[in-house]
Amino acid sequence: MTTTLVDRVRAFAQAELTSKEAYFDSLPEAPTVESVRLHEAGLANWWIPAAYGGPGVSLEDGVDVVSELAYGDGGFALGSIPTIIGTTVLQLCGDESLARPYLEGLARDGGFHAILAAEQDAGSELVRTSATYVQAGEEVVVSGDKYFSTNAATAAVLFALARSGGEDGGISVVVLPRDTPGIEIVKRWDMVGVRGSATYQVRLRDCAVPARHRLRGNGVRNLEIGLNASRILIAATAVGMARKVRDLAMEYAAVKHVKGAPLADNAVFAAKLGQIEMLVDVMRNQCRAAAAEFDRAMAAARSGDTTLYRVGTLRSALAAKMYCGQAGWQVATIGSEMFGGLGYTHDHPIGKLVRDLRHVGLVEGGDDVIRDLLYARYVVPTGRRR
Ligand SMILES: Cc1cc2nc3c(=O)[nH]c(=O)nc-3n(C[C@H](O)[C@H](O)[C@H](O)COP(=O)(O)OP(=O)(O)OC[C@H]3O[C@@H](n4cnc5c(N)ncnc54)[C@H](O)[C@@H]3O)c2cc1C
Repeated sequence: MTTTLVDRVRAFAQAELTSKEAYFDSLPEAPTVESVRLHEAGLANWWIPAAYGGPGVSLEDGVDVVSELAYGDGGFALGSIPTIIGTTVLQLCGDESLARPYLEGLARDGGFHAILAAEQDAGSELVRTSATYVQAGEEVVVSGDKYFSTNAATAAVLFALARSGGEDGGISVVVLPRDTPGIEIVKRWDMVGVRGSATYQVRLRDCAVPARHRLRGNGVRNLEIGLNASRILIAATAVGMARKVRDLAMEYAAVKHVKGAPLADNAVFAAKLGQIEMLVDVMRNQCRAAAAEFDRAMAAARSGDTTLYRVGTLRSALAAKMYCGQAGWQVATIGSEMFGGLGYTHDHPIGKLVRDLRHVGLVEGGDDVIRDLLYARYVVPTGRRR
């Protein structure tokens, strides 16, 4: 039997991530030693195509990679995901001379790219982005305040969404190498969950880069294309964490007795575990189906097909994220009751899993935003769509 990359990630997670709940829950210094080791094991940024020196794993198989990482730690898994947005956008909307060095750099050196989209006021409404860029001769100069950006402090490159300071007011993505003067990390957020990841507030002041760093096409649409991949992978973190809840429940049920018999033999317990198994299976299948659709759309886009650019956000990716957020939360709720009072203490990992699972329905669009997108893009008649 051949060892797949997913098998290797599972072994990595077992050796490097599991049973370190307190450490990952302590906002460990970024980048973590474990993320460096993931790269040394040849497993980081697994989706980078072989043409750029990466492992070239499909998004469909990436679902299982993320599930394994999240089984080890949800925050660690989340931290490994946003880089895929930038690499997707670079491949489709950047000149090869810009994209190649950054993609090869990620494959060779490991590390991260970060997305600077969310703002304090504009929030999920990316079309209201207030950060600006100004074309000045051969340069483009970006300024603005970005509220949340995972990995921004340690990323090699930041992808900033900004509005033209000129009359057209168009929105673009501008690629900012991390050492560009004017990038200031305001603070690291003290998150409630997924504390093994590192998310920052960032200020941009007159960040000047060559004009070719402004990517082709509408910036919101470009980000939407990349967000398909990351939303599916965020959804996949719920699969891994739900599996962990299930396995912790089985361990507990072997030693806990109710009415003179092991909890594992109790019909109420069995029904709960059957319910969790059904949810895990549907979550994984939706993630893999959405990922397979994205893989096909990316292959077509690389060959010049414009469908992905026209559609932007895929229905299956939105459904995966919203469904896994809700189903993951259902599993978290079952899990938090499962361990009795112990489950409400910091002595048992279920409390952390509950906090970590909550991020799936929040990051990269809460359910209200996802529902609105599904309605506006896929329910209203074609002619009236936004
Ligand atoms: C751990 C973490 C990591 C993050 N990493 C990044 C990152 O790397 N890069 C980045 O750019 N951002 C990042 N974010 C930001 C994240 O994507 C946003 O916080 C999230 O999408 C929610 O957006 P918001 O905070 O603007 O709130 P909003 O979406 O504006 O929500 C605020 C309120 O408005 C309501 N609302 C908003 N839109 C609608 C609507 N259409 N219909 C009805 N009600 C609506 C919501 O339901 C909610 O009640 C991160 C956030 C977290 C927590």
